[in-house]
Amino acid sequence: MEGRLIVISAPSGAGKTTLVNALLERDDRLAVSVSHTTRRKREEEVDGEDYFFVDPGTFASMRDGDAFLEHAIVFGNAYGTAHDTVIRTLADGQDVVLEIDWQGAAQVRRKFPGAISVFVLPPSIDVLLERLNDRGQDGPEEIDRRWHQAADDISHYDEFNYVVVNNDFDEAVGKLAGIIDSERRGEKARCECVTALVEHLLQR
Ligand code: 5GP
Repeated sequence: MEGRLIVISAPSGAGKTTLVNALLERDDRLAVSVSHTTRRKREEEVDGEDYFFVDPGTFASMRDGDAFLEHAIVFGNAYGTAHDTVIRTLADGQDVVLEIDWQGAAQVRRKFPGAISVFVLPPSIDVLLERLNDRGQDGPEEIDRRWHQAADDISHYDEFNYVVVNNDFDEAVGKLAGIIDSERRGEKARCECVTALVEHLLQR
């Protein structure tokens, strides 16, 4: 049987990558898609594991050759999901997680209406700002830029099938796993009402 496509998006600072890694560890029917990007590799990152780091020319020729299932510019860099690898993995019966931004999620939804999409929210403004500040050397201007970007990302939360608040980490992993299990059984998982939290997050 064909696997399912699971899109997970979040604003910067919501803890999405750590959540996805924990999810992959407990579920061997899940695979994660490794994206292509023109962003510079961070020191701790591994080419081919975290991303395929490519130059803008390579990215453009892949895009023009329709090699991407979706692609978008995020923080000034190009990111894209290679079409063939995802389709092959789905055909093998694995469920594939795409860790992508809301623009990419919208493209996936158009092409794969059956895709499951989940938006991860931070539990409060303080936690979001703390995580943005903790990212290191950024000055107030960069933090402010990231904050505006995060607020813009958050405003798209209601385009997703599910929302998970990353307050207690283990609980959030459990909720994500629960959503995937329910969908595998052909059921919809219950969803939290997060309207008040989103209003609060956007109020800074
Ligand atoms: P970072 O460069 O910090 O790893 O990721 C920056 C943003 O790009 C995150 O929001 C991440 O979800 C998004 N992103 C990573 N890979 C892709 C991709 O293949 N497509 C799209 N649309 N966004 C991506």
